[in-house]
Amino acid sequence: MGLKIVVTVKQVPDTHNLSRDAMKPDGTVNRNALPAIFNPEDLNALEEALKIKETLGATVTAISMGPPKAKDVLKECLYRGADDGILISDRQFAGADTLATSYALKCAVEKIGGFDLILCGRQAIDGDTAQVGPQIAEKLNLNQLTCVSEIIEINDQTVIAKRIVEGGYEIVKSRLPVLITILAGANEPRSPSAKRVMAFKNIDSKVCETSYDEVYVEPDSCDMIGFIKEWNARTIDADPSICGLSGSPTKVKKIEGVVLTTGVAKKVENTQAGIADLVHELIEEHIIG
Ligand SMILES: Cc1cc2nc3c(=O)[nH]c(=O)nc-3n(C[C@H](O)[C@H](O)[C@H](O)COP(=O)(O)OP(=O)(O)OC[C@H]3O[C@@H](n4cnc5c(N)ncnc54)[C@H](O)[C@@H]3O)c2cc1C
Repeated sequence: MGLKIVVTVKQVPDTHNLSRDAMKPDGTVNRNALPAIFNPEDLNALEEALKIKETLGATVTAISMGPPKAKDVLKECLYRGADDGILISDRQFAGADTLATSYALKCAVEKIGGFDLILCGRQAIDGDTAQVGPQIAEKLNLNQLTCVSEIIEINDQTVIAKRIVEGGYEIVKSRLPVLITILAGANEPRSPSAKRVMAFKNIDSKVCETSYDEVYVEPDSCDMIGFIKEWNARTIDADPSICGLSGSPTKVKKIEGVVLTTGVAKKVENTQAGIADLVHELIEEHIIG
């Protein structure tokens, strides 16, 4: 069966396409005004998992913590080649900072059990903290390789990876199990497979409740394994006092809106003297130099 790989994927507001109503008057993010997208570096993490699946053999489970709509990113994972997805969703998880987020994800990973490799994006484009991956590793007492731009070699015992550090890179080796955070640019994420989209696109209509805690979503009958489970706080044995808002020591005190306005326009002559003046001015104002 090969390696057992867990990939963490987050649905994020598209902060690259901000509109005027992106923030609410109280300073919080207006998620309804922004399209929800697959966190870009999580696509790179998924791609690494799928490449390993193709070369070594592996089962790839994608997990996401978020509201019911976050199931969309798990479906995207199935479309691209993941074997199954788990949505961790519960009102108790709302308002989580990185500490509470990593706690919930760690509980889910423990419930999955028997994993060899956890792959995360380096950071999410909404919070941008890059803390969640390392915190999951810490809580699971796992080795961690962060800011990885290339998995050079992997077998069922060890992995060798290139990680980017300030001013260069390191080649590092770790025993499995290990958690790795993947950088954008590590690979070119594949597109969804048309066959898999056809197989999994109506997955929502196949919800059947098997117990209070677990909801299974079975795909259309096809020769592929693939389903999405929903787990809540009780399913993953999470302690409510360290979940969501109550488990989050981070409190946002104030958010300031920054309005970028155009400054004074100045024409620079396309001559040696004009460019020399511009360079002089930029040095004077400590913009360059
Ligand atoms: C503007 C802003 C500022 C914030 N500042 C802070 C702060 O200073 N301190 C703090 O603790 N929290 C902060 N938060 C909250 C923080 O964004 C959330 O806790 C969030 O759930 C996780 O942090 P992140 O987005 O920074 O993730 P990162 O640590 O940047 O994410 C790294 C990787 O972890 C995985 N991951 C992260 N979240 C999930 C998820 N829900 N499901 C599955 N995988 C996931 C993904 O693979 C992701 O690529 C802030 C949020 C916003 C919007």
